[in-house]
Order: sequence, then C-alpha cells, then structure tokens
Amino acid sequence: MAVPGKCPECAAHALAEYRVISEGGWWTVVKCQQCLTSLTRKPAPMFGAFVPLGAPR
Ligand SMILES: [Zn+2]
Repeated sequence: MAVPGKCPECAAHALAEYRVISEGGWWTVVKCQQCLTSLTRKPAPMFGAFVPLGAPR
C-alpha cells in the first residue's frame, strides 16, 4: 500500500506500508521502495484495520 511522504534517506516519494510477520507477531512497516530504509515499525492489530462491510462503527 502506497504511503504519502518522502524518504529521509534518499528523498524518493516511494514509501509503502505492508505487513510482515516477525518475532512478536505481525508488524506494520513502512519502507522506502527505492533504498529499502525502514521508516516505521509498529505492532499490527491481529485482524488488521480492515472493517468488514456492514460492521457497526
Ligand atoms: Zn529511500
């Protein structure tokens, strides 16, 4: 998933967010697709941020 923003390392507008499974479970990471710098790494919710259609808000 593309993320708006600029890479602090190479200044490319090529950030992408995705899930990885690692120690401790699922993580959401934001990486620069150009130089592969990891910008953020945070625990991902088990079932993600996806809200099924018809779910109460
Ligand atoms: Zn970069």
